[in-house]
Amino acid sequence: MGDERRRYLAQQIELGGAEIILGRAPAREQEPLMPPHPPAGPARGAAPKWRKGAPAIPGPGLTVLSPTPVLLGNDLGLLDSIDAVAERIRTTYCCELCPGRTHAVPGEGNPQARLVLVGEGPGATEDATGRPFVGQAGHLLDTILEAIDVPRSSVYITNIVKCRPPQNRKPLPDEIAACIPYLHRQLELLRPKVILAMGGTAGEALLGVRKSLGELRGKVHTYNGIPLVVTYHPAALLRNPNWKKPTWDDVRIARQLLDR
Ligand code: URA
Repeated sequence: MGDERRRYLAQQIELGGAEIILGRAPAREQEPLMPPHPPAGPARGAAPKWRKGAPAIPGPGLTVLSPTPVLLGNDLGLLDSIDAVAERIRTTYCCELCPGRTHAVPGEGNPQARLVLVGEGPGATEDATGRPFVGQAGHLLDTILEAIDVPRSSVYITNIVKCRPPQNRKPLPDEIAACIPYLHRQLELLRPKVILAMGGTAGEALLGVRKSLGELRGKVHTYNGIPLVVTYHPAALLRNPNWKKPTWDDVRIARQLLDR
């Protein structure tokens, strides 16, 4: 993506370009994001657009350790690649959600990712395709990533549960408990620089606590030594425009942690 397009995206979000964060459908399918005659790009060495007005990195929150591999059950600790974990997810059942799936959705992305994004669980499009965040919320996520100069191809995206809950309901505690060992193993293998938990379910499950999203946001938690930021789920932004600004702030905190 060129500098002009990046600048333009960031500007749209910062100035409350509701269409982008709010996803009437993906803006790129509806209208060109680039103005016909884009302004010149930022001068060499200038701060990136997303940086302007970004909040300072907040103080520490919770510090947690993931279960040791031996507690992950079975032999997950022996699966030595992201592909091997994905294959295990696709070929086995771990809870009541699995028999109802069209496809399991293990996650996808760069095995060298510095940023890992964690959502709640697959929706209808994800179940149909076997890929995470490819529906409406996924398009919004792509736009947010573009605006912070992080290509989707550079990150790893996954969920707390790997099979779609019926009617997109929240995964139940026993479903999360059955599935989350896969996520712990994925994170152990990926060892990213930053984790972004999207939504209260993801934040609570990763940190192993029962707290509101309000309590979890605005801090830099530590998961196995890795900074973890909690923000709103993209689907929530589609429902409530008021959450787009706080999300933009959280995402820019995560982005600064990547640079640290
Ligand atoms: N919502 C999620 O939490 N995950 C997906 O993969 C898609 C939508």
